Amino acid sequence: MNQTLSPSGNIETGTKKEEGKIYDVKIGLEIHIPIKTKEKLFCDCPTNYYEISEPNVNICPVCTGMPGIKPYPINSEGLKSVVMLAKLLNCKINEKIFVKRKHYNYPDLPSGYQRTSEPIGVDGNLNNVGIWEVHIEEDPGKYDLNYRRVDYSRSGTVLAEIVSAPDMHSPEEARNFLKELINLVKYTNRTVDVGGVMRADVNVSIEGGARVEIKNVNSQKGMVKALKYEILRQKNLKSVGSEAKMETRGYDENQMLTVPLRTKETADDYRYLPDPDIPPIYLKEISEKIVLPETPQSRKKRLISKYSIRDDYADILVRNKELADIFEEIVSHDKFIASLSFGDFKNSVFKMAEISSSWICREVLRQLNYRDIEWNDEKNKLNKKILADLFVLLLDNQITENTGKKILEMVIDSGELPSDIVEKENLMTESNDDVLKNIINDVLAKNQKAVDDYKNGNKSSLNFLVGQIMRNTKGKADNKKVREILDRKLGN
Ligand SMILES: [Zn+2]
Repeated sequence: MNQTLSPSGNIETGTKKEEGKIYDVKIGLEIHIPIKTKEKLFCDCPTNYYEISEPNVNICPVCTGMPGIKPYPINSEGLKSVVMLAKLLNCKINEKIFVKRKHYNYPDLPSGYQRTSEPIGVDGNLNNVGIWEVHIEEDPGKYDLNYRRVDYSRSGTVLAEIVSAPDMHSPEEARNFLKELINLVKYTNRTVDVGGVMRADVNVSIEGGARVEIKNVNSQKGMVKALKYEILRQKNLKSVGSEAKMETRGYDENQMLTVPLRTKETADDYRYLPDPDIPPIYLKEISEKIVLPETPQSRKKRLISKYSIRDDYADILVRNKELADIFEEIVSHDKFIASLSFGDFKNSVFKMAEISSSWICREVLRQLNYRDIEWNDEKNKLNKKILADLFVLLLDNQITENTGKKILEMVIDSGELPSDIVEKENLMTESNDDVLKNIINDVLAKNQKAVDDYKNGNKSSLNFLVGQIMRNTKGKADNKKVREILDRKLGN
């Protein structure tokens, strides 16, 4: 590297050059996804720990690690779900695996070891990111450090662990991968779908240096912040001639920095042993019998062919399973179908699909982004009923697009029904010819210059006049009618 000294001999110039350098960043993820099952992985305790507040309700001697107790046979539904996930991630499925004991000491793990399988699937990929391994394992309990209390209701529930290759090169790439992975996982309908249950460990190294692992990053936003901080920390170490060391760090969400937890355990530290209580698991037959669910790609094709919606809208919808679900529920909604008042049925469905897809992909997402929330955020008060109500108003031309946008902005925070607001505030589209003609005459009289400009060939003057008419009707004028009347009056 050329380190140039400034004329004053100050090395700062060189350091600045260093700061602008593009580092080779490698990021890998280990994602833990809770799998929905009735019973735990090795006992028959219920698994709804996230719905109950009282601690230590769903427990038995197996999932609290009582000495001498034997596990039940592995939960076959949980196993199928993880094999399905591995197949969706294009993994090669292993034919025979053992369950191992991974030893570590922490109060959330009463037996002193976590049961985790050998890889169910290996060498997969999701787009350009390699998937190294997919495992099935037990979730530990929860230990509350502040109160020194432990809750074993979660202990022994089913987790899928997905280990990616370090193929991502920036926090944004890692976030996009995680987003895509979580979306794909939702298509199985076999995961626990409540906020904050996803847990990821992130590893990051720069310039081929030591791999630093950040534990328990619990949200996509948290992951981006943790990675940005950690990359900067490692760059700063490099710039003073030092190196990051191989270690495990935790992300402190409040202070937005990573702090050392312990030097990284190697596989030796965990003393992996095959669990002598659990027979080997054969996966070939299970894997062959699995029927894969619809994926985002196959759903996109179906949405386009079934509803004739735009390619780019279909793409946005399927990347966000909740939005695609809402879209399909709305266009097949009984109330909407009953309300169809014009044209033939098939064309009406296409028209509704066009309105729904464009409004969800543009206006709804714009409002969510503006508030920096996702669809399933509790601050979002929109639901199927509200959107269907709004889209029917637009479909029937009872309100203008302008009014629709204003209403959407209100109901996303309030959860009111759009048709109630329209009635209460008298927001129906103004399409009465006499009323519109009066307003238009008034606007033309007051804007003679724009009228002359238009007649002299300045076509953009027309937009100005339409804008004035819209202002005078508070955005309620029927746009099509306004343009028709204007055309006649201006002699086209
Ligand atoms: Zn149990």
